[in-house]
Amino acid sequence: MLIGRKRMSWKEGCILLTAAMMVCLAGCKSCGDFAVGDYSAGQEFEAVTEKASLFSKDKNETSAEQKVSAENEMKRTESSSEQESYFEAHFIDVGQADAALVLCDGEAMLIDGGNAADSDLIYSYLRYRSLNHLRYIVCTHAEEDHVGGLAGALNYAAADTVFCPVTSANGRAFGSFRNYLEKQGLSITVPSAGDVFMLGSAEVQVLGPINMDSSEPNNTSIVLRVVYGETSFLFTGDAEKEEEEDIIAAGYTLDSDVLKVGHHGGASSTTELFLQSVRPLYAVVSVGAGNPYGHPARETLSRLSDAGVKLYRTDMQGDIICTSDGKSLQFSAERNADADTMEFAAEEPSQEEIAKTNAALDSADYVLNKNTKVFHYLSCSSVKQMNDKNKVYYTGTRDEVIELGYNPCGKCHP
Ligand SMILES: [Zn+2]
Ligand SMILES: [Zn+2]
Repeated sequence: MLIGRKRMSWKEGCILLTAAMMVCLAGCKSCGDFAVGDYSAGQEFEAVTEKASLFSKDKNETSAEQKVSAENEMKRTESSSEQESYFEAHFIDVGQADAALVLCDGEAMLIDGGNAADSDLIYSYLRYRSLNHLRYIVCTHAEEDHVGGLAGALNYAAADTVFCPVTSANGRAFGSFRNYLEKQGLSITVPSAGDVFMLGSAEVQVLGPINMDSSEPNNTSIVLRVVYGETSFLFTGDAEKEEEEDIIAAGYTLDSDVLKVGHHGGASSTTELFLQSVRPLYAVVSVGAGNPYGHPARETLSRLSDAGVKLYRTDMQGDIICTSDGKSLQFSAERNADADTMEFAAEEPSQEEIAKTNAALDSADYVLNKNTKVFHYLSCSSVKQMNDKNKVYYTGTRDEVIELGYNPCGKCHP
């Protein structure tokens, strides 16, 4: 399946870019807004945001000027209607959920919309950018943290094609999504692995799901590889190990510069084998601060770290925008551009986790000191002075502890 128009050749793109630069130099006052420099994180973010809105609002005006001022250059191109090409991927901070917006050459694709509570946020995000037309909406799978906020998108924007791995599912979030689709007279298209469609001049290939009947909804996630010029992006939804293996086995090209990390950085996604196939330079985790699942998992972070990937995280950095000129990529973050994103559990553990840990400790019989090889009752005053690093809470018999090579404390006589 091939939807959309042919990609502009790089030669054509260069000619157009030259023409656009001439127009700009001749007196476009907002030219500075297109410059990409080494701003501080906050400023850079604003500049990129402004760039996005400029593209959506002033594009037609600019192209009209191009036609007049750069007539000779335009004659050499096959079609005079083609405009300056651009590409942006926005990873929208929707907390413990997923939402990404891909913009290319005046066309928009929304991949997931966060939780139902994010509907207003998604509505505003699109409205701020005057994106009242979405070429594609992709609901990667029918779970609330992905489908929930799509109602907000459909409340503001008209959509052409809506992809989802299922046409019906339980739950209020999916019901609301269906209602808003019906209001626009839209039906769900279930894509097949191998399908290819165009978003502007970017080519989008569906890589998964391959096993449509997986009992784990995460493994029914629509997985998309987006190629713009020489740059590439992989959007994985919540795909876990099983779906990753299916996709590798199917033999698709997975190699991508940017990886939207599967399942909010959960340990059962982003396996070493998958990372070896994708070989990303950059990765983005869409995740909520202090979430009860411990996402992103320590194991996932260390796999990404071992692979030498530069990681961005919505919990630490807010909205993250990646722009591509077809050859190189530029990232900007809403805040904390230099955050240590490989840090595990920067946030306080949840109340639930603390209660669980305390219950486990209370039921222990002894505290062992790894350093001195002495063991104590929990109530021993020495335990309070012990370095946390050296403490081991042990549940079992006195003989077992002695067997492990520990001696009883002379104060509490365990
Ligand atoms: Zn899921
Ligand atoms: Zn999810």
